[in-house]
Formats: sequence, structure tokens, C-alpha cells
Amino acid sequence: AAKDGGRGRFHVYSEDLHAEAEAKAKLEEDLRDAVAKEELELHYQPIVALATSKISGFEALLRWQHPEKGWISPERFVAVAEDSGLIQQIGEWALRRACQDLAQWPHQVCVAVNVSPLQFANTALPRIVASAISDAGVSAGRLELEITESVFLGDDKGTDAMFAELKRIGVRLALDDFGTGYSSLGYLRTAPFDKIKIDQSFVRGMTEEGSRNGAIISSITSLANALGMHTTAEGVENHDELDLIRAHGCSHVQGYIYDRPLTFEAASARVAGNLFAEPKGPKSARATR
Ligand code: C2E
Ligand code: MG
Ligand code: MG
Ligand code: MG
Repeated sequence: AAKDGGRGRFHVYSEDLHAEAEAKAKLEEDLRDAVAKEELELHYQPIVALATSKISGFEALLRWQHPEKGWISPERFVAVAEDSGLIQQIGEWALRRACQDLAQWPHQVCVAVNVSPLQFANTALPRIVASAISDAGVSAGRLELEITESVFLGDDKGTDAMFAELKRIGVRLALDDFGTGYSSLGYLRTAPFDKIKIDQSFVRGMTEEGSRNGAIISSITSLANALGMHTTAEGVENHDELDLIRAHGCSHVQGYIYDRPLTFEAASARVAGNLFAEPKGPKSARATR
């Protein structure tokens, strides 16, 4: 009976795996189609400088409305794009689109584009970045590339050379999702980041009693300050979190308290105003998601 049970479980498990693999293959096919038909979009989430309460720029975030399944999370389809190699093409499209959109906005506004570790490992990246910038006619300093800690798992020499080439072009570099991966102080010593983005998992739960998140955020911001880097707190949703983030010395905030990711049109309306950002929601009660 034990043997049968074991075999039964294995059977169910392998069926699940099979279904998962099929779903992924179908999604890959649909994604390829969406890329060809230019059905991917970029939405833009404001990043607010706390010193001025103004929008300093936007993070460009991929969006895909699947013809039958509706909106699919980028967490899911970016993973599919990475597994299939499609990420190189999608990543280049996102860089070009973001630079073209940036060209429509005032020069003090910047745009941040997420770069997959697989793009970072591609020696063509600096050429792609440089041509996206020059084709759109924007200055390099207005483009920030968001890179996660996983790029440091690759070959050191290649990583250093890539950083040097990107800095030579003049783009800014942000370390995304800081604290969730292989956080090591070693690479902060040499990698030329302009900004550290503190992952939203540190912001979440920060307001709860006994939470250690605030102490961690304070340490990250003082370290960043000492190294001459800015800090953005990701995923700030309510006033309590915003007050703490301010107290802990973060220079920038990104989160639903200001805005969700916006369409290009809505983002443009936002910059056409005076660029001041107002936190949303009730002052003391917790904001709902
Ligand atoms: P990320 O780069 O860390 O982007 C921030 C994510 O946090 C976005 O999720 C954003 O919508 C979400 N967020 C911002 N503020 C709040 C908040 O107050 N509360 C909550 N709960 N969430 C907030 P999104 O757009 O679903 O993107 C998820 C991830 O997908 C991104 O994480 C990034 O890793 C990846 N991604 C998105 N666009 C691209 C892209 O163009 N290229 C690559 N390689 N990856 C991308
Ligand atoms: Mg990001
Ligand atoms: Mg992030
Ligand atoms: Mg993330």
C-alpha cells in the first residue's frame, strides 16, 4: 500500500509538472506573438524626491494584456522571456520605448528601466543603450538602469567591464531589490551605483511593533549616504510608512501612496502639472491596497 501511495503521488506530481511545462510553452508562444504584434506596453510609476516632494522620474514597468487571460504579471512573463531568450528583444524594445517616451518629458525628469541579468551578460548591451539614447535624442544622464544583485553571480571581469562601459556612456545605475538576494558589501566597494533601491519587503511590516525593518533601512541609508548614493524605498503604501521612511533618511520614495504605475498619457499629465506629488489616502488610518 505504501508503495502504491508513493507511486500515486509521483504520478500526480509528474502530471502537475507536465501541465506546468505545457502552460509555460503556451505562454512563451503567446509572448512571442505579442512581441511581434507590439502588444507589450510600458507603464510608468513616479519616483518622488522627499527633499522637494517633486517627481524626479519614473520607473518603466512592462505590461502585457493577454488576449484571453487578461493582464499577466511581469514577474511571470519576464521569467518566461528569460527562459526562452526573448528577454534580449523585449529588453531592447523597453529601452528604446522608454527613451522615446522620455524625450517627450521635461529635461529634469528621468526614467529608470529594468535590465535583466541576461541582458547585463550580453556584451551588446552598451551599444544598445547608446543607440536607444541617441536615436531618441535624450541625454544619457536622464536614463537609469535598474540591475539586481544577481548580476554579481556572473564572471567578475565581465561584470566590471560592463559597469565601466555603461558609466562611460553616462547612464546612471541603480541596485534594485536590495536586501533580497546575495547582498554583499564587497560589491558596493567597487560597483559604480548611483542609487540603492530598498526592496519593499523591508517597508512591509516596518510599522509593526518590534519590527527590525526600520533599523535595517536606517543602516542601508547611512551606508548609501556615506558612499554618495541615493536611496529609494520601494512599495510605500501609507502615511505611517512614509513618515518612518523619511525619518530613516531615504532620499526617494516609490509606492502606491503617491501613484500606481501609470500609462504614458497619465504620466505625461502628471509631469505637465507642477510636478509636486501629494501622498494619497487618510493621514492616520492604514491605506488599503
Ligand atoms: P521591480 O523592478 O522591483 O518593480 C517594482 C514593483 O513594485 C512593480 O511591480 C510595482 O508595480 C510594484 N510596486 C510599486 N509600488 C508598490 C506599492 O506601494 N505596493 C505594492 N504592493 N507594489 C508596489 P510590477 O510592475 O508587477 O513588476 C514586478 C517586477 O517585474 C519588477 O520588480 C521587475 O523585476 C520585473 N519587471 C517589470 N518590468 C520589467 C522590464 O521592463 N524588464 C525586466 N527585466 N523586468 C521587469
Ligand atoms: Mg525595478
Ligand atoms: Mg525593485
Ligand atoms: Mg522586485
